[in-house]
Amino acid sequence: MIYPFEYGGIRLTSPYGERALEGTSGFHGGIDLVGLETDRVVSTVSGTVAASACVTDKSDATWMWGEHIIIAGDDGRVYFYFHLDKRLVARYERVEAGQVIGVMGNTGFSFGAHLHFEIRESDAATRINAAEALGIPNMEGCYEPKGEKSMKDQDIIDAYLRYVDRNTGDTCDAWARDYTDWARACGLFKSDGDGNFRWQAPISRQELCAVLYRFYRMMENGSTAARD
Ligand SMILES: [Zn+2]
Repeated sequence: MIYPFEYGGIRLTSPYGERALEGTSGFHGGIDLVGLETDRVVSTVSGTVAASACVTDKSDATWMWGEHIIIAGDDGRVYFYFHLDKRLVARYERVEAGQVIGVMGNTGFSFGAHLHFEIRESDAATRINAAEALGIPNMEGCYEPKGEKSMKDQDIIDAYLRYVDRNTGDTCDAWARDYTDWARACGLFKSDGDGNFRWQAPISRQELCAVLYRFYRMMENGSTAARD
């Protein structure tokens, strides 16, 4: 059985079995997972979508599942995917193992984005240890990707560069203008070769070192102007 994320490794944040949550103990019928490289959720087996829904009426306990998908596997077992942000398949739809069915989210009874993944026998009631079925330890930890779908280093770099591309706006939000003007006047931030300050872009570690170095020199000089 493949991992329920499109590629990359997974972090198990809450194992199957007895546990305490928010002060009350109970049986955790599935495992809580986070995709390490993607939040796109895939079906772990081939089968048919038995439900793609969200219950908002809180008198119905299944509201806790949030946006959820249930797959009736060809193997006879039933697979549950809870707390999704988005559902991308409809009821009665045929899905193949590895097909994207949704996006991880934080809907229903959930405290932070994760996927609650649960497996039951064909009676839809008897639970199975989902960690064991996936071939990972039933304990908190990060587990390596299986198969060939893992991202290569170059894919990760390309994904980062695409992210930076989308976020390199050179305009400041109004609330930040005074601070960025100050930082620019002090020489803490200098533009790149094209004169772009990339105010909306994330900062790399080497850029952070440069900023900290300039700040340190500014304090040392007791002046408002940093020197390289
Ligand atoms: Zn859970």
